Amino acid sequence: MITTLFGAKLAIVGGGKFCHAFLQFFEHPDLRHMAPKVVSVADIDEQAPGYCYARQKGIPITTNYLELLQSEGLEIVLELTSDPTIGKNLRKEAPADIVVFDHFQARSLWDSLQVERVKIENIAELEKKKNDPDAIIELINQLTESFATIIRARNERSRQIEMELVEHERTQSQIIQGSTIPTFVIDKNHRVTHWNRALEKLSGYRSETIVGTTRQWVPFWKNERPTMADVILGQVPEETIRKLYGQTWRKSLLIEGAYEAEVFFPHLGESGKWLWFTAAPIKAPDGTIIGAIETLWDKTEDIRAEEEREQHNRELSTLVSIYTALSAPMPFNERIMSALHEIRDFLSADAICIFLRGEDARFHLEFTFGMPEAICDQHRIASRDSMISYIAQQGHFTIINKLPQNDSDELCLKTREQIQSLVYIPISTKEGNPFGVIRIGSRFADQFSYNSKDILVLIGNRVGVAIENAMLQERYIRSEEKYRSLFNNDPNPIFIINRRSLTISEANQRAQDCYGYTKQELSGFPFLELGDPDDEELTEGIKQLAENNHHDRSILFSKRRHFKKGGQAFFVNINVSQAEYSGGDVLIASTTDITESVERETQLIQAGKMTTLGVMAAGMAHEINQPLNVIQVCADFFLKMLKRGQPISEADLNAMANDIVANVARAAGVIKHVRDFARQSDVIRSKVNINDPIQDVFKVLGHQIKNHEIETELRLSEDLPLIMAEHNRLEQVFINLVTNAIDAMDEKVDRAERDGGPRPEKRLTIASYAENANVVVKVTDTGVGMTKEVVHKIFEPFFTTKKTGKGTGLGISISYGIVKDYEGTIEIESEVGQGTTFKLSFPTHVKGTPHSNE
Ligand code: ADP
Ligand code: MG
Repeated sequence: MITTLFGAKLAIVGGGKFCHAFLQFFEHPDLRHMAPKVVSVADIDEQAPGYCYARQKGIPITTNYLELLQSEGLEIVLELTSDPTIGKNLRKEAPADIVVFDHFQARSLWDSLQVERVKIENIAELEKKKNDPDAIIELINQLTESFATIIRARNERSRQIEMELVEHERTQSQIIQGSTIPTFVIDKNHRVTHWNRALEKLSGYRSETIVGTTRQWVPFWKNERPTMADVILGQVPEETIRKLYGQTWRKSLLIEGAYEAEVFFPHLGESGKWLWFTAAPIKAPDGTIIGAIETLWDKTEDIRAEEEREQHNRELSTLVSIYTALSAPMPFNERIMSALHEIRDFLSADAICIFLRGEDARFHLEFTFGMPEAICDQHRIASRDSMISYIAQQGHFTIINKLPQNDSDELCLKTREQIQSLVYIPISTKEGNPFGVIRIGSRFADQFSYNSKDILVLIGNRVGVAIENAMLQERYIRSEEKYRSLFNNDPNPIFIINRRSLTISEANQRAQDCYGYTKQELSGFPFLELGDPDDEELTEGIKQLAENNHHDRSILFSKRRHFKKGGQAFFVNINVSQAEYSGGDVLIASTTDITESVERETQLIQAGKMTTLGVMAAGMAHEINQPLNVIQVCADFFLKMLKRGQPISEADLNAMANDIVANVARAAGVIKHVRDFARQSDVIRSKVNINDPIQDVFKVLGHQIKNHEIETELRLSEDLPLIMAEHNRLEQVFINLVTNAIDAMDEKVDRAERDGGPRPEKRLTIASYAENANVVVKVTDTGVGMTKEVVHKIFEPFFTTKKTGKGTGLGISISYGIVKDYEGTIEIESEVGQGTTFKLSFPTHVKGTPHSNE
């Protein structure tokens, strides 16, 4: 080995003490012949002793040791560093004809050189002392001593290396042991040398039971198989690694030669653990693999969190797609189907069906998805004892992860469709009433988990709401269609009125025909402007209805005057009600043309009036005669005085003129009243104190009452509330009642005269008072009274018990019509031979009711 050195061109890497000693070694005169030719010395430390010495000696120096390799004719490179990688690198980089001695080999070389030196020195000495045996013995002793020194140095060096190794091992051991990263180390025989505390904790296996054995797989796998560290050590082919560790295996990006993988170990810990582990080779300085270190990282929590996040995102995006599908602008069925599509993808299910409660209270298959409809269910109605019916009624979310053999409905799914697991999600209305079930099936057993219950229930709710809405909408459309056809075909005008503006938003064909306006003209037209502008009752009533303040949802306003486009008036009954129409809050008003009946009635009233006027004629004559008499008297007086040529005193003239004026006024008043009465009265109402028309009755009938010797008693309550009516028509009513009373009492007197009995008293009592929310008037007479039969027929027009020419039979029927117009009632109490009481009551005009005009 040393002979290769002699005269060889040599470069030294590492300019330390060793290099220095090496360079000096060959300066010895006896050794110069052996000296190699040193062409270059390299060291990164320019102050290193060998490096400096080389510079002194004029040997080329460099800080880049790879540059050495370029030296002309280089034969040997001596690596004198303690860095194993440099030796390795030199071997790799050096051309094939260059011999590289690393520092281990250099050590032996050095030892050999020492021996060589000792040999040379002693041979020369031996030559000199070859004749002196004592000197030779002495020389041999010295020689032995020299060798012993060399050997001692050599041993010392070995011990040092060994110590270093032990120390290194100890440090490494401590590092591993102290590390919080679960770690184990195996040697080249796959025997575990380290199994740290962190790994004890992670694996549940104490180091005593593992270290020294090859049982490193035990905590992780059921059967013996290589750990990643074993794989690294064994230099297993990649295919095999992939087979062992699946797709997560990869080469470490950070550590050269290391492998990583992420694997779920179901047997670790309580419910398995996700471990991410890295195994790296441990190499000897020469690069051979002498062991492997594996670190493990418990990623269970991270992965669970990540999974949860992923699951959450998946749920969220599924919900979003289901929501989107359900609210897409498509026909309802398509929306449901695309929502089912999303649900199926989300659950990796094979089939979805929706059963909904039908009108027969049974559950009908309404939607199927993912399976040919015909074989999804034999019967499209779930039998009463089926799971569907049970779950729909109980409203319980249910998972069946292995289909039983005996359920008839589900069995069919199993045999025909290989469905293995099912989820039932009940669907309820917003009020919580179950109305259906979503059934989701999978061809795999254990496909569904209660972990996803929440989202499934949520999906169920969402689909339920969509179905419910759609059903409501459908019902709504159907009812709207029905409504619309009713609306357009109604024989009466109908107006849809905006609640806020009280303008007409729609009117049917009949309204257009009847009022003579076009659809466009009616649209936006204020409804109230179709009628009398000062009809406060109507205005107020409609406003209250619109503002929801009215106690009824609809009000009937009778006998209202409406105007056609040209201004022509006609009479209508108006029915206004609150309604929902096309989704909005509106009022619906329908008007019925009652002009004809009003006209007929008016004529009737007029006819009745004429009769009354006839009856009144006598009284009226008296009323007018009275003032005429006064005037006559005055006129006679004036004429007498003029004849006599006597002057009339100023006082007389004044008094009489005043008398004449007063009586002319009185007569004119009577005439005016009769004329007013005879005039066709208005059907529009106003506030009336009922005492007024009662008192006016005596203006026209007062004389008659006196003539017939009737005692009258008026008990009219002061401070009566007002009612909504019309003065003249009320007067008409009272004239009728009083006239009948007079007739009945006269009749009674006539009968008494015929029978020769005592003359009965004639008393007419009219009382008015407030009772609850009504104003009541009682007209009582002491006349003949009526039988029950007569009372029954009394409201019929033309019913009379009186002689032809006397009675018309219209009085009561007309009075009844008038009272009804003012929402009043008539009650009759009568006893034959005793007398009769007519009790009239009218609703009081109360502020805040439709009668309000304030
Ligand atoms: P008329 O007075 O022309 O007969 P009415 O309609 O006024 O017609 O009355 C109908 C009938 O009712 C009368 O004919 C009479 O028989 C009965 N009647 C009405 N008022 C009274 C009364 N105060 N007492 C008895 N009978 C009455
Ligand atoms: Mg009458």
